[in-house]
Amino acid sequence: MSDCIFCKIVNKEMSSTIIFQSTNVIAVMDINPVAPFHCLVLPKEHYTSILTIDPGIMVEITSAIQIIAEEHDLEEGFRVVNNCGKYGQQTVDHVHFHVMGKRQFEWPPG
Ligand code: 5GP
Ligand code: ZN
Repeated sequence: MSDCIFCKIVNKEMSSTIIFQSTNVIAVMDINPVAPFHCLVLPKEHYTSILTIDPGIMVEITSAIQIIAEEHDLEEGFRVVNNCGKYGQQTVDHVHFHVMGKRQFEWPPG
């Protein structure tokens, strides 16, 4: 999608700190981190949300998260978040998974 910032990141039309790439998935550091470690794992192809993503790509996303956790020393734990739609407060309509770590999180979230 031409006006999607994450498509622009995937196509290298916008700069980002890429920390992982596989056939269908990319991970970049979040521009506005809410934890000492905060990256976004997303499909290279544009899908609006978890409601429309090809479920097969979730396997590759899971694999990406496992590799990122290993490479970035998240062995004490971390949080994976997918914000979906209005109630989920999704602000970028290209499905992505926040991986946040290196601090203590609370439950339930706000
Ligand atoms: P959402 O609110 O949709 O779950 O998350 C969107 C995330 O994208 C936010 O955490 C925000 O900081 C991040 N973000 C927004 N614009 C950019 C950008 O241009 N580059 C990067 N790396 N992250 C971005
Ligand atoms: Zn997109």
